[in-house]
Amino acid sequence: MDGDATAYLLFTSGSTGIPKGVAVSQSNAVAYMEYAAKRFGFHAADRCSQNFDLTFDLSVHDLFTCWDAGATLCPYAEQTLTPATLVEEKALTCWFSVPSVAMFASKLGLLDPGAFPTLRWSLFCGEALSASLAAAWQGAANNSILENLYGPTEATIAITYYRWDSATSPAECVRGLVPIGWPFDGQQVCAVDENLAPVAMGESGELCLGGSQVTRGYLNDPEKTAKSFVRLKKASDQHISDQVWYRTGDLVRQDERGCLFYLGRRDFQVKINGYRVELQEIDLVLREAAHTELAVAIPWPLSDGSASGIVGVVSGSDPKLDAQIIAACETRLPRYMVPNRIYHFPQIPLNVNGKIDRGKITEMLGKWEN
Ligand code: AMP
Repeated sequence: MDGDATAYLLFTSGSTGIPKGVAVSQSNAVAYMEYAAKRFGFHAADRCSQNFDLTFDLSVHDLFTCWDAGATLCPYAEQTLTPATLVEEKALTCWFSVPSVAMFASKLGLLDPGAFPTLRWSLFCGEALSASLAAAWQGAANNSILENLYGPTEATIAITYYRWDSATSPAECVRGLVPIGWPFDGQQVCAVDENLAPVAMGESGELCLGGSQVTRGYLNDPEKTAKSFVRLKKASDQHISDQVWYRTGDLVRQDERGCLFYLGRRDFQVKINGYRVELQEIDLVLREAAHTELAVAIPWPLSDGSASGIVGVVSGSDPKLDAQIIAACETRLPRYMVPNRIYHFPQIPLNVNGKIDRGKITEMLGKWEN
């Protein structure tokens, strides 16, 4: 193996309109695979889900942890009603998906207690997992161990885990979200302030990641690499190794046991059905398509704190042009980033700094819909 050679290259949405290419090396991928083999102990009799699109790094887990164990991979075919029906049809033993897929199954009433007795692992990753969904899935997959995994593409698939315990976990959830837990063996986490100095235990900070799963940076983009792959300030009472850390943009708090609690984002990155999206990237396309600077992309509608789609909110554009605007967005953005509807506001609300107030717009959409 040539550890530095690229195992795969994945592009994620970028705030300037240009996607960022993350080059994951062979040694990054092997570090994840070796740990996953130990942690999940998949074996030849296992039947694993393949829910993730190949443009998503979690598909690398689907394919290679399964084949590495000589297990059977069960891809989700489009004609299946919902991926969750695969659990029964294929007698799956290992499930891995974004929480949105489970949420869809829940809405269809598929999570009856004991519905998925064959599952021995239920893994979720890619977006925040709500406590109510974790409890419902655990009830359906009552013989399985349920874990909430967390990680960005830049740190190779997943890098922290939290194991759900029906008796104790509900009380540990913050803002109704399942904690993201502890780093994998050999990986490091650190919550920092805006000066990249570690925050005190119990305080919120931006999560930085270090270790053998952290990639080197973005393809041909030294500027963005320098912004996100950094060295931390050393505090005298904390052990911070002299290495490069990846700034995730995720806000967390860590308790005295070292358990990490996910508190949201510090920027405009959102997840739409598990896909990572920088809203500014859509704003740029939408503004050109609508021929106005007063246009903004908003995750909408919201359910359980997360969005299943994007809408455009514009001011001063002719509603007759909506179909044309959406069609123009379709030519430049992947399907999950295209606004599915345009709302026309007489004025776009601004915050005290004169910036477009996305929170206020979301509030107004809520009132509009009711
Ligand atoms: P991606 O690079 O597409 O895997 O997206 C990474 C981002 O997804 C992270 O920086 C988080 O914002 C979010 N994410 C991934 N897993 C979780 C999780 N378990 N809970 C909350 N957010 C998550």
